Amino acid sequence: MNLTVIGTGYVGLVSGVCFSDLGNNVVCVDKDSPKIEMLLRGEVPIYEPGLKELIAKNTAEGRLSFSTDISAPVQDAEIVFIAVGTPQLPNGEANLQYIDQAAREIAVALNGYKIIVTKSTVPVGTNERIKQIIGELTTHPFDVVSVPEFLREGSAIKDTLHPDRVIIGAESKEAAETIAVLHRPLTSKIIVTDIRSAEMIKYASNAFLATKISFINEIANICEKVGADVTLVAKGMGEDRRIGASFLNAGIGYGGSCFPKDTHALIQIAGNVEYDFKLLRSVVEVNQMQRFNVISKLQESLEDLAGKTVGIWGLAFKPNTDDVREAPALEIVPALITHGAKVKVYDPIAMDKFRKEYNHESILWSSNAVAAAAECDALCLLTEWDEFVKTDLQQIEKVMDRPILVDGRNVFSQEQIEKTDFTYYSVGRPMMN
Ligand code: NAD
Repeated sequence: MNLTVIGTGYVGLVSGVCFSDLGNNVVCVDKDSPKIEMLLRGEVPIYEPGLKELIAKNTAEGRLSFSTDISAPVQDAEIVFIAVGTPQLPNGEANLQYIDQAAREIAVALNGYKIIVTKSTVPVGTNERIKQIIGELTTHPFDVVSVPEFLREGSAIKDTLHPDRVIIGAESKEAAETIAVLHRPLTSKIIVTDIRSAEMIKYASNAFLATKISFINEIANICEKVGADVTLVAKGMGEDRRIGASFLNAGIGYGGSCFPKDTHALIQIAGNVEYDFKLLRSVVEVNQMQRFNVISKLQESLEDLAGKTVGIWGLAFKPNTDDVREAPALEIVPALITHGAKVKVYDPIAMDKFRKEYNHESILWSSNAVAAAAECDALCLLTEWDEFVKTDLQQIEKVMDRPILVDGRNVFSQEQIEKTDFTYYSVGRPMMN
């Protein structure tokens, strides 16, 4: 099939590349010309394992191209995907300005029947709004279909090529079937729903996963007070198939471009119909507090943070991505500086993106993990990159001024810590302190 993807970010680029790898002809469009110029030069604007190779293969084989122009790609396509951002507005609602603009641009370019697929995460009712915007600007026929995206950064290609399920929300049976045909090589689990249910499935899924994270983080906080080990508790819970083992890793809370904004947006969606989503409000509040446990643990061990040097391992919101949107580090690093600390930071991939979001004279940008720990009064692990997990802690201990380690992701084992003299803090494992 001939496909056009509007918005060449984490979702649009990965989806477009994967669809081209399945044999479709794909044009990825973005209005950000430096991004498209990079892609045309064979460079990749985001870090996602395996993506560079897949782009090179499919551009060389002539199935994948990039453009800043929307008209010709829309005219040549049978299916047009909308994968633009839907960031959070100050009141928590999703900002739909990029969706509206993409809809208008598609409408103006239409030259005949197309299926317009919304992959962006959008509040219930938005696909109807897209239909209205396009319908007001064109007489050409079209269908709007909601296919929410569930990929995770860091494993986006695997998630796209092997999704747990594909949700297709449509009014038109024919359009739903065409979109099902496109996705059948990926999975047999295709669930066709009405459009509003599809939109809600995305928010409900993310809100549920965020709830699991905040739940286990609260259990971890209680474990610290009652002397239980949250990793064993999670293992014991996770073996129950009704619960499941995933998203039960206690830590410093969720971040990233989806969970924070989607939980806020769902609270607003509920609020707009006068429903107070109390449970989800607590999930958000718990998540916000959880990241600051790192600061309290540092204060417990160092007392006053003023004049101290704290090493930070990991700036990305999770490993295997360069994305720092809503990363815990973006709150923890400024908080340390506010308390008067100097901060030495290191991340294998996300340093540049972090620096664009937050820079300060009290930050020292280190070139490797050992350098970030050197001469520090304490070290905090915020992102569980493999590189940190595999580090020889005895070597790290030697370069630090004081051997204090706050493991925000519970990556180190008792055995590893016992070989060192570290004063060690993790999350919900008080016996390891
Ligand atoms: P992103 O910010 O990485 O990319 C969005 C891109 O859209 C940008 O490159 C921007 O320049 C482009 N854009 C905006 N308006 C445009 C227009 N009119 N024409 C052409 N390009 C335009 O965003 P993302 O992380 O890929 O997320 C996209 C959507 O997918 C969001 O709604 C998000 O909630 C959802 N989503 C994201 C993820 C994820 O892990 N990132 C996972 C599932 C769903």
